[in-house]
Amino acid sequence: MADLETFRADVQRWLKANAPASMFTPPKDPDDVCWGGKKTKYPDDVRRWLAVMGERGWTAPTWPREYGGGGLSKQEAKVLAEEMAKLHLRPALIGFGLSMIGPLLLQEGSEELKKEHIPRIVRGEIRWCQGYSEPGSGSDLASLQTKAIRDGDEFVLNGQKVWTSYADKSDWMFILVRTDFEAAKQAGITFLLMDMETPGVTARPIKLISGSSPFCETFLSDVHVPVRNVVGKVNGGWALAKALLGHERTMIADVFKERDDSRRLVELAKKHVGECDGHVAAPVVRDHIAQVEMDQHCLDLTLARTRDNAKAGHKPGPESSIFKLYGTELNQRRRALMMDILGEQGLGWEGAGFEDRELKVTRDWLRSKGNTIEGGTSEVQLNIIAKRVLGLPD
Ligand SMILES: Cc1cc2nc3c(=O)[nH]c(=O)nc-3n(C[C@H](O)[C@H](O)[C@H](O)COP(=O)(O)OP(=O)(O)OC[C@H]3O[C@@H](n4cnc5c(N)ncnc54)[C@H](O)[C@@H]3O)c2cc1C
Repeated sequence: MADLETFRADVQRWLKANAPASMFTPPKDPDDVCWGGKKTKYPDDVRRWLAVMGERGWTAPTWPREYGGGGLSKQEAKVLAEEMAKLHLRPALIGFGLSMIGPLLLQEGSEELKKEHIPRIVRGEIRWCQGYSEPGSGSDLASLQTKAIRDGDEFVLNGQKVWTSYADKSDWMFILVRTDFEAAKQAGITFLLMDMETPGVTARPIKLISGSSPFCETFLSDVHVPVRNVVGKVNGGWALAKALLGHERTMIADVFKERDDSRRLVELAKKHVGECDGHVAAPVVRDHIAQVEMDQHCLDLTLARTRDNAKAGHKPGPESSIFKLYGTELNQRRRALMMDILGEQGLGWEGAGFEDRELKVTRDWLRSKGNTIEGGTSEVQLNIIAKRVLGLPD
């Protein structure tokens, strides 16, 4: 305990001394939070913050030191997170490297792939995207058709991926391809790592209803990928794909909640519904806010327990579908409540008559529509919970 308190004091001192002043405030723009990679130019302070945190391995606090991680125990990592929260420090790095492919490589990757990729993920040098979905294969992912034909030490890839978030901004993709065309559909899939600069890869952005364009169609035409980039075994990709979805679904459960959502919800309600004795004037609105906040708190506690288990070596299983289902539907409820509170002020898109924070509520609400689709739809999560968590018959 005394050691942990010494550690806490050291962490506090180090964070105050090394975090650039502008990192002690919430980001103004999504690009103020660093996703790493070579294709996005971040402000100097964001880059400096990533450099110092990455150097120490504190972008991935519990990952082993030998691969560039922080090597912290789960208690120490908790202290680091607590101290960062106290100081309102934004994370130095987020993204699919840290939340999806990194954990999978640590669990299942060869020593060679770990040494090549994990340190670059920790330092935010490479941004990753996920090449799972195809035009005819979303919920029924195992039916995917992107072909990979072996040619000596390489696979030659042809096909199309779709809804590939940030493909145009990413340096590498983890991708599912079909390598056996005779086997049962799950048995013919291989999990590959692919450099997005390889000739034959084209990513074309698709615009979302919220106005932003986070995802792409990705076309693959005679793309050569070395066989050594296979994670696990050739034709053994399906089990890895599912394991990674476990990490993704746990991550999605709270990724859309923003740090100051609770404060914003109350502020908006006081402004648009009215204030009485320092409280939101309408009891019904107060009730709705309290319900959303209590549900969020319960989810946060359950997720924290799961993360503690993960740090102790427990792999996420089908129960991650419960978090995905609940967290995304809760986020939609929160966004819809904000829209209700705004009333007509929620109908703006741009221009005079609407404050920036009101326009943000509208766009966040529209963006939340995709939450119950991405990472697997709510209906699919219910199927998984029924069959694999509760053991109900087909
Ligand atoms: C914002 C966003 C980001 C995304 N990012 C990525 C990404 O980075 N990489 C990637 O690979 N994919 C990504 N996706 C794709 C996502 O994984 C798929 O959209 C999702 O798996 C659903 O597949 P689909 O769109 O083909 O719908 P379909 O599978 O065609 O489903 C259509 C409807 O049928 C229902 N349905 C289907 N099967 C069943 C069933 N067995 N039982 C009950 N209902 C069923 C679904 O719930 C849905 O309502 C993203 C999607 C969104 C919206």
